[in-house]
Amino acid sequence: MGRRILLENDHVPGIETIDVYRKHGGYRSVEKALKKMSPEQVVEEVQKSGLRGRGGAGFPTGMKWSFLAKPEGVPRYLLCNADESEPGTFKDRYLMEKIPHLLIEGMIVSSYALGANQSYIYIRGEYMWILDILEKAIAEAKAAGFLGKNILGSGYDLELGVAPGGGAYICGEETALIESLEGKRGNPRMKPPFPAVKGLWGCPTVVNNVESIAAVVPIVNDGGEEYAKIGIGKSTGTKLISASGNLVRPGVYEIDMGISVEEFIYGDDYCRGIAYNKKMKACVPGGSSVPILPAHLVTKTAAGEDRLMTYESLADGGFASGSMLGSGGFIVFDEDQCIVRNTWNFARFYAHESCGQCSPCREGTGWMEKVLYRLEHGTGNLHDIDLLAEINKKIEGNTICPLGDAAAWPVAAAIRHFREEFEWHVTNREEAQRKNYGLLKESVA
Ligand code: SF4
Repeated sequence: MGRRILLENDHVPGIETIDVYRKHGGYRSVEKALKKMSPEQVVEEVQKSGLRGRGGAGFPTGMKWSFLAKPEGVPRYLLCNADESEPGTFKDRYLMEKIPHLLIEGMIVSSYALGANQSYIYIRGEYMWILDILEKAIAEAKAAGFLGKNILGSGYDLELGVAPGGGAYICGEETALIESLEGKRGNPRMKPPFPAVKGLWGCPTVVNNVESIAAVVPIVNDGGEEYAKIGIGKSTGTKLISASGNLVRPGVYEIDMGISVEEFIYGDDYCRGIAYNKKMKACVPGGSSVPILPAHLVTKTAAGEDRLMTYESLADGGFASGSMLGSGGFIVFDEDQCIVRNTWNFARFYAHESCGQCSPCREGTGWMEKVLYRLEHGTGNLHDIDLLAEINKKIEGNTICPLGDAAAWPVAAAIRHFREEFEWHVTNREEAQRKNYGLLKESVA
């Protein structure tokens, strides 16, 4: 069983209240940082920890913090990206629901490190009940003197707010999040300038994921070097994984970076294998926007080495035979699942969520969705498969924000690894149609 750093106390009754949270060591990092450390020392510990952004990109958090511009007399902001909307990813929801004070504590220490006096948690609009949980936790933290003026007599002031999103996936992109927080439509901005220079209200801003901010708490408590001892190479610490699909025991797990994918899927401490003793057909290891892997590349790399739960190992082989750790949305498909249907389902999501600013994404995602619909419903032709690959090439790398790539990569990977299944939907039209009619009947029933 891996160690539990973030979820150590998730099972403790009443841990969502500040009294119980403090009885279990809560808010120690705030005392330590504000009384004994300078903001620069906190940044240094985060750099030493090797922590990488847990929202999906995996960019080193300490480096991101070091880019923050510090012009005299201009406010700086820390924004927590709690707009968790990637299909297959639900770990931030679990953390905020169960241990809201861990996020609040991380926000205080991180805001102190960055010199922010006003910070916000931007939460997915569909998570309204968690907004209530967070607001209650913030009120408790304020009453206990961890927020507001002159926190713990340190001279440091911080106000923390929670802002609900409007229910758009694209607002999880940091510049779209900033636009939305400013009260505008959540359209991504062209970069540069980056938020570290010109972010919220034109001021220097850092946007970090929920899990990244929560991880700052153990880093400050135990030191960056201790944190960096967990994991392998540049994948340090623990990682929350949302496991779903055809698993015996789906759920949210905290793993040590570097355990094998085999252990995660089949181990007794984790998912305990594929449900109903079926075989695994494929796996999407990092949320809906990363390439799908066929079974033989899930637990082993193309070179035959054990695949590990790290940024590097999951990407081993590039897009030809690898994927990405992404947001840790680990979706497993058994032998009975239809890859074409799943690919169409993801494509439908991206077509719906495209903000429409750039043509390759706006038109391309809609076009892909239509072609995939045809194939899945037995009305496509073989040329459609190549057409999808062509549309993909036109989208990839030609858009303002990463949503275009996120829509293109899963389709390209599905065709690369499961082309025969796409062809089957053309050569067995009637069966494909019957299959869909059956599914339709099931969903109506
Ligand atoms: Fe909008 Fe898509 Fe362009 Fe991103 S890639 S800015 S979501 S149209």
